[in-house]
Amino acid sequence: MATKTQVIDIIHKVSAAIGENAQFLTDLDNAIGDGDHGINLARGFKKVEEELPAVADKDIGAILKKVGMTLVSTVGGASGPLYGTAFMKAGDAVKEKEEVTAEDFIAMLEAGIGGVQLRGKAEKGEKTMLDAMIPALDAMREAGTADAKAMLEAGLKAAKEGVEYTKTIIATKGRASYLGERSIGHQDPGASSFTVILETVANTV
Ligand code: ADP
Ligand code: MG
Repeated sequence: MATKTQVIDIIHKVSAAIGENAQFLTDLDNAIGDGDHGINLARGFKKVEEELPAVADKDIGAILKKVGMTLVSTVGGASGPLYGTAFMKAGDAVKEKEEVTAEDFIAMLEAGIGGVQLRGKAEKGEKTMLDAMIPALDAMREAGTADAKAMLEAGLKAAKEGVEYTKTIIATKGRASYLGERSIGHQDPGASSFTVILETVANTV
């Protein structure tokens, strides 16, 4: 699915996409949180870009681990540790690899979700990033790994549907949970940023 050079290229593109969507994501967080999601993530990925050259000769697992550690230390809020742990766990799933297959990508997402749940103790249906991540994983498993592009497209479609679903439910985790019923009608910022990331991967592979 992607060589190490392509993985590095994808990380740069993810960083650019988060930068382009920073205002959009922050506006979403303004509605049901504290309005920092996009700005914080963009700052984190900017730092990731600065750190990437120093680890470019390492394997994909180590590179993703570095991405995760950088996000933990620069993003802050709830999503910094959550995304950071997700990338670190995804890195663990592809230790010492110089190339990732579609099967590896499924293993990475599965590990990433495990990391988010370990840290955040949320389940599907609580109006968080998991409402995009878990359906994406399920859809990619269902699509199968024979055609990586088709697999990613299926995952992206499910993630987008997951974002739409977050509009219909009450937040029970994170800052948005303080709003109770008033969180209905708004899409979750974290589910939205995950979809931006997955869309970038799907468009690049
Ligand atoms: P904060 O809420 O601390 O300001 P951000 O604005 O960066 O953090 O991120 C908010 C996003 O984090 C939410 O939209 C949601 O997707 C995600 N989130 C918050 N708490 C959890 C949790 N316990 N598990 C999974 N995701 C969570
Ligand atoms: Mg916030």
